[in-house]
Amino acid sequence: MVDDCVRVAVPVPLREALDYLPPVVVEWPLQPGMRVRVRVGRRRLIGLVVATGVRSALPRNRLRPIEAVLDAEPLLDDATRELIRFAADYYHYPIGEVAAAALPERLRNGGEAQAAAIVRWRLTPQATPEHAALARAPRQRALVSYLLEQGADAAPLDTQSLTAFGAGVGVLLRELLAKGLVERVRESALAPAPGGELPPALHAEQRAAVDAVWPSAAAPGYATHVLEGVTGSGKTEVYMTLIARALAAGRQTLLLVPEIGLTPQLLARLRRRFAVPLAALHSGLADAPRRDGWLAARSGEADIVVGTRSAVFTPLPRLGLIVVDEEHDASFKQQEGLRYHGRDLAVWRARRQGVPIVLGSATPALETLQHARRGHYARHRLATRAGGARAPLLRILDIRHGKLEAGLSAQLLSAVRERLERNEQVLLFLNRRGFAPVLICHECGWAAQCPRCDAHMTYHAASNRLRCHHCGHETPAPPACPECAAPDPRPIGQGTERVEQALAAQFPDVGILRIDRDTTRRRGALDATLEDAHSGRFPLLLGTQMLTKGHHLPNVTLVGVIDADQGLFSADYRAHERLAQLLVQVAGRAGRAQRPGEVIIQTHQPEHPLLHTLLAGGYRAAADTLLSEREAAAMPPFTWLALLRAEAAQQTAALAFLNAARKVLDGLRRDVVDVLGPVPAPMERRAGRYRAQLLLRSGDRGALHALLARTLPELDALPEARRARWSLDVDPVDL
Ligand code: ADP
Ligand code: ZN
Ligand code: ZN
Repeated sequence: MVDDCVRVAVPVPLREALDYLPPVVVEWPLQPGMRVRVRVGRRRLIGLVVATGVRSALPRNRLRPIEAVLDAEPLLDDATRELIRFAADYYHYPIGEVAAAALPERLRNGGEAQAAAIVRWRLTPQATPEHAALARAPRQRALVSYLLEQGADAAPLDTQSLTAFGAGVGVLLRELLAKGLVERVRESALAPAPGGELPPALHAEQRAAVDAVWPSAAAPGYATHVLEGVTGSGKTEVYMTLIARALAAGRQTLLLVPEIGLTPQLLARLRRRFAVPLAALHSGLADAPRRDGWLAARSGEADIVVGTRSAVFTPLPRLGLIVVDEEHDASFKQQEGLRYHGRDLAVWRARRQGVPIVLGSATPALETLQHARRGHYARHRLATRAGGARAPLLRILDIRHGKLEAGLSAQLLSAVRERLERNEQVLLFLNRRGFAPVLICHECGWAAQCPRCDAHMTYHAASNRLRCHHCGHETPAPPACPECAAPDPRPIGQGTERVEQALAAQFPDVGILRIDRDTTRRRGALDATLEDAHSGRFPLLLGTQMLTKGHHLPNVTLVGVIDADQGLFSADYRAHERLAQLLVQVAGRAGRAQRPGEVIIQTHQPEHPLLHTLLAGGYRAAADTLLSEREAAAMPPFTWLALLRAEAAQQTAALAFLNAARKVLDGLRRDVVDVLGPVPAPMERRAGRYRAQLLLRSGDRGALHALLARTLPELDALPEARRARWSLDVDPVDL
């Protein structure tokens, strides 16, 4: 028995941390939260110390020593490590991989926990082009003159803006440095924010929400607050007032947002308001700035941290407030690897750290509303739109009998024309990119099918190619039918590309801006496109889901939903919740300024109860109805789900594994857990692999998790597990 062991979470698919002997050379005391380099098998990996001084069940000769200690002090504090532990337990995922997911790439790989210093250059007071030391150095003299012109006597310049001077600037700078004519200034990675913008006077509902969350000068304790308000009702103002209170109390704020697309406007707004260090953490950043932002959060230097879901793992020594914006958004749930929900972990963390958390949305998730009904969450509503803007008018447009032009009805087109003639902006929404979702042969019925998926290929006209939106497979579009050789297979149905073409024919002199993943693929392209959308140069906006989120488009007075039927017919149990959220979110783009907006929803199902409830009673009424349906069907939030997924190259292997898993489950006492399946996945073959799933459901979350904890190690050991890749999805959002 060895009792001075170190337990290390290593990024390998083992459920538990591994034991090591302390390092041979001890430079500083080893503590939990430090990174170490260890050997696992033949590999050297970076792990995280989770405990020291532990007693190992293994004999000394079976233990290896830690090879190197990478940090002089813990990189992760207690709160962050507890969150990692919780996530590993709750999602039944290897702790080492959770710990790795919690770190930014550069640190996960063992990089030094130090921000890259940004070096700037400044002239010293004695530097003038006439200085004696420059008499025989014309290039250096020219550089000093240049630096003077650029204002480097007052504000330091970064190396980037100095490269404009020309080649060899680095050498010249070092020579000037040696002569004491320039100096180096190191500064923080956090860009200084101007701040100073004055907040508006809050309206009564905003004030009530703010006072409920943060009532006094002292920092409040844990509570979850749902802030329910349509887009434009002033939620962001509420967040900012709360941030101001947190700042006044010397506390950090963590603000989680669903997607990077949302951040530019929000960040700009925060910077205009607050002249404090702000770190942005999202996957659109390069590795180094991301690490630097993370380190600034961890050191307490950053007062405000804005990030996407993984930012929930950031250590924040002075945390005082968490805000989750658009909390209903599905992108808070990671769909691969550690399938965690950023919002749910944020709530757990808020409770653990005793700070208030605000969940903001125009369309709160049903599980959030159910928590509120049970009294776990406080609910605040912003019903009036800030600045007096009126809520848009929703209208259902029955398109069953009329003629459609690329999916657009005559009524919708004339409504668009009317707005354009009044110089107003119009937004059309279609959640399908490409030209057409199917390409078929009119003679023999052949349809372009993805060879690797149970799905049709989407036709893209601009590139004249077929693309599978599920696996990325791509081929040139065939000029003739591959089956019967008839020429010109026909595109059926419409995507944004086709609608754009039809609109261009209808409105030849109008600027049309299409916003989807095809037009915004390059890094930075989305920012530029959104700026275009705001600029007013494009009266006609057309886009997918991307357009529905949080973007302020105050000149839009008409929103057209080209096809509401997709969501009405989907088999997914959350489809109706999603559709209701989507329609309300899209509608939220319209009529933000003084002009009232209108939303036209095209459908073949004008009598659909969901649409009627939404029209008559808004999202609240729709959510109430959907909750009753969920209760009747014993689905979340009235029960808890866990989905076992398996995939394999052979059709039978995935199902064989799940059948074996089912046997294991059936062999255990499990009165309160239903096991449903296994069944093939809704799209059985994807990217050349066959997929199947087994659903576990229980009204008792504790019982479900206890069962999972008992079962999973047995599943690891099943012989069928070697022929299929499997994973567990706790609280799945897609079934
Ligand atoms: P949301 O986050 O709910 O979409 P915002 O906070 O962005 O709403 O507010 C929408 C618009 O109304 C913004 O331009 C904001 O500056 C403005 N606004 C918000 N609250 C007020 C207020 N109390 N008085 C005046 N304008 C406000
Ligand atoms: Zn054919
Ligand atoms: Zn495919």
